[in-house]
Amino acid sequence: MGGRKRIHLLPAGLRKGEIMKAKVLLIEDNEQNRYLMNFLLDKHGYAVVEAFDGPQGVKLAAEELPRLILLDIQLPTMDGYAVARALRANPALENIPIIAVTSYAMAGDREKALAAGCTGYIEKPINPATFMARIERYLDNPPTESSP
Ligand code: MN
Repeated sequence: MGGRKRIHLLPAGLRKGEIMKAKVLLIEDNEQNRYLMNFLLDKHGYAVVEAFDGPQGVKLAAEELPRLILLDIQLPTMDGYAVARALRANPALENIPIIAVTSYAMAGDREKALAAGCTGYIEKPINPATFMARIERYLDNPPTESSP
């Protein structure tokens, strides 16, 4: 193996002990879901920023410029569709993947989420075995959705 190795920014972000971790913003009002997603992301080396509602999420997204946003659709006061539209209205955020977190039963939510500007979706309840793989594909791939 000769020559210089190209250094990639790994989808998992930088490893522990390195200078920066990839930042993920969670916009989720349910404490258990927040806790689980935070736990999984932290375990895989991400820095997590949490918002409990839409307005706070939109504000934090602009301040933190995360690598990825996980957006619950069922939120109080401002639902996930409105949040996605508000995020996409900010040019600084236009390339950040937004992953809608939707109830499995609510199939129509997915199309609405994509129409509102989300990049893809994952279903609730969160499956800890597949969660990281499901979201990490959005870190390297262009913002297009394929079937799960
Ligand atoms: Mn919710």
